Amino acid sequence: MLIILLGPPGAGKGTQAEFLVQKYGSAYISTGEILRSAVKKGTAMGKQAKQYMDQGQLVPDEVVVGIVQERLLEPDCGQGALLDGFPRTVVQARSLDRVLGEMNSRLDAVVHIAVEEEELIARLTGRRVCRDCGATYHVKFNPPKVRNICDQCGGELSQRDDDSLATVTERLLVYKKQTEPLIEYYQKRNLLYTIDGNQEIGAISTQIITVLDQL
Ligand code: ADP
Ligand code: ADP
Ligand code: ZN
Repeated sequence: MLIILLGPPGAGKGTQAEFLVQKYGSAYISTGEILRSAVKKGTAMGKQAKQYMDQGQLVPDEVVVGIVQERLLEPDCGQGALLDGFPRTVVQARSLDRVLGEMNSRLDAVVHIAVEEEELIARLTGRRVCRDCGATYHVKFNPPKVRNICDQCGGELSQRDDDSLATVTERLLVYKKQTEPLIEYYQKRNLLYTIDGNQEIGAISTQIITVLDQL
């Protein structure tokens, strides 16, 4: 199965992806995670991407399309994959259609997690991630058992550079302008399933599973 998780920053895509990948054993492709790891390693691509990410802007389409195209060819994607945070523009969506066509593959569903803006700001500014395994927490809504320590691996939690209020505001604007048109793009192709993201994490997971099990 090839599934896209679509939704604004803070909607809960990464949180749901952690759960879905465990349940279905699918390959996980998060362009944000791949870019952050390139930034950490200090590669040429990472250096270029960092300038955009720090401003809350999107990294150029050709860079992310190249990343995803390469990643989809890796053997663990043979049985399908879960795409988180890609595509984010209509250009990226068209490129994905082309790449999948060349691979004789196609999308099964686009799961759109809908959450309103005020809630997104609270979620993003309180988000904490594990430095070691990348697991996601929230200081209030999904706290770890021990303050600042990852339940999964014991690693230290930290705040992402781009989760400051100023950058969050910009990212939400960028989402509205550049990514929201994808809702209509996938609706027209009969691939869109919208889930109310203003529920408990577990309730959202249950609804996503119901959608995926019907495919
Ligand atoms: P995204 O990947 O869409 O940006 P995340 O999964 O990182 O979103 O979630 C953003 C923040 O909101 C995290 O701190 C996460 O723990 C928290 N969160 C995720 N889902 C929910 C939910 N249903 N209710 C409350 N907080 C949530
Ligand atoms: P969030 O989970 O909060 O939505 P991501 O981890 O998906 O954030 O993305 C973090 C940043 O990485 C984005 O603000 C953007 O700069 C860059 N990025 C990630 N995915 C893409 C993409 N598909 N196209 C362009 N830029 C991207
Ligand atoms: Zn961890």
